[in-house]
Amino acid sequence: MSDATETIFSKIIRKEIPAEIVYEDNLAIAFKDIAPQAPVHILVIPKQPIAQLSDAESKDHALMGHLLLTAKRVADQAGLSNGYRLVINNGLDGGQTVNHLHLHILGGRPLSWPPG
Ligand code: 5GP
Repeated sequence: MSDATETIFSKIIRKEIPAEIVYEDNLAIAFKDIAPQAPVHILVIPKQPIAQLSDAESKDHALMGHLLLTAKRVADQAGLSNGYRLVINNGLDGGQTVNHLHLHILGGRPLSWPPG
């Protein structure tokens, strides 16, 4: 399993470094990406430090559902009524750069497909 015990996102969860937090509950937190790739670019992360999606286990079933529903809620809150994209980069080939599971919410413009 990859090590996700301490990343930049741990510091955001603990409020040790600033972030534009748009949603928080006891299981998850959502904040604006520091380098937005679209007019709306928000990250949804579990407070529990799971390094990447491929490390999630059966016991994380409810948390995974919660993250997806949280992303929907945050996208609604951000006014993305015209649509949006959810992205999870997993591991090296997936382009993951922070080893703490996160869902990207991207929207506010038409998004092309396929991604690079
Ligand atoms: P990944 O490439 O791992 O899928 O996505 C990591 C994301 O985290 C990137 O989009 C990057 O811009 C964002 N990010 C990295 N460090 C910080 C930070 O300190 N604050 C915020 N708000 N976003 C960050």
